[in-house]
Amino acid sequence: MPGHELLGQEEKQEVLDVFDNGGILFRQGFEGLRNNCYKVRQFENAFASHMNVPYALAVSSGTAALRVALAALGIGQGDEVITQSFTFVATVEAIIESRAIPICADIDTTLNMDPEDLERRITPNTKAVIVVHMLGTPARLPEIVDICRKYNLLLIEDTAWGCGGFLNDKPLGTWGSIGTFSFDFAKTITTGEGGMLVFRDKETYMRAQAWHDHGHESNPTVPRWEDTRASSGFNYRMTELQGAVGVAQLRKLKEVVLAQRNNKFKIWNAICDLPGVTPRSVPSGSYETSDALVFFVDTKERARLCRENLINAGLATKILPEAYTWHFSGTWHHMSELVSSHGGDLTTAFDKSHSILARAVSIPVNVNMAREVPSKVRDAITKAFSL
Ligand SMILES: *Cc1c(COP(=O)(O)O)cnc(C)c1O
Repeated sequence: MPGHELLGQEEKQEVLDVFDNGGILFRQGFEGLRNNCYKVRQFENAFASHMNVPYALAVSSGTAALRVALAALGIGQGDEVITQSFTFVATVEAIIESRAIPICADIDTTLNMDPEDLERRITPNTKAVIVVHMLGTPARLPEIVDICRKYNLLLIEDTAWGCGGFLNDKPLGTWGSIGTFSFDFAKTITTGEGGMLVFRDKETYMRAQAWHDHGHESNPTVPRWEDTRASSGFNYRMTELQGAVGVAQLRKLKEVVLAQRNNKFKIWNAICDLPGVTPRSVPSGSYETSDALVFFVDTKERARLCRENLINAGLATKILPEAYTWHFSGTWHHMSELVSSHGGDLTTAFDKSHSILARAVSIPVNVNMAREVPSKVRDAITKAFSL
């Protein structure tokens, strides 16, 4: 639990830099007053080169990034967009907000989209797929990319949990048309609130750029108030203060991911020999961000017991088994669009996902981990099996 643990002098210095150069908190314009200080732009350029893509666009949140992605790809009224049953509500909210129809596919034991179930749910109205790399483990991207090609579907990666991860040496977020990232306070790197989109294609980038800024094309030949426009849009701009923090946090991304990977390995080593503990499936070629350690136990009751014992030992679980209300679409009865696109009842719509999630336990992994955490976890889990 990640970048916010390392917030410090570097972030402070980048923010001071904004104030020392005119205090222009807006990402564009005011050229004469800012001494060439453009933090959002600098963050975007550094992020794009980090991800090895030509274009990146910073926005106000990870949810906004998904909304802008759907707009830039022309997804709207009547289009079906398939995502997965285990994700944060934001993924489905962005689809609903685009006036498209949200469909969730089941997950498999990777806890990410099951490619077979994805293929089963494709209809002539399906336009796009949003795959999510939950808790930092890559989805089965090669199979999902093939299915998208076969049916001519656009692919968006919700990389909110996958920032700094790879599959087959290719950064997560760069496998489809657009990758989206979140920098909220619980994510791998943070700007308090914030998000990013990455693109391989210039036209898609240009559409996203305009749409996130009321349709402003940022035409260099005219001043902003005479700017040209081709479409309507909205306001999802990032501020210079967020951009400044992002510039410093991005420099720490590799360090955060490495520390999480080491610490997850230490916890896993302490429990992997316990009978009844089964690891999450991980696609071969994965470089996980290791934001959490996930494993399966034999029953739902045992998963609950693990949670209780971990909490009693002063440790925590992360999302699973307790908080799947916010992360499992089978419980989202408050989203009428989702309910109606799944036959009017979500309770039995994702039986396969439910049976997998109910037996999963997830332990948060910190950058700064106390030395005794692995053995405490071992004791707590051992106790859950001793009844
Ligand atoms: C955090 C998260 C988001 C939303 O990001 P915000 O920056 O909080 O708006 C979207 N999708 C997933 C999977 C997330 O975990």
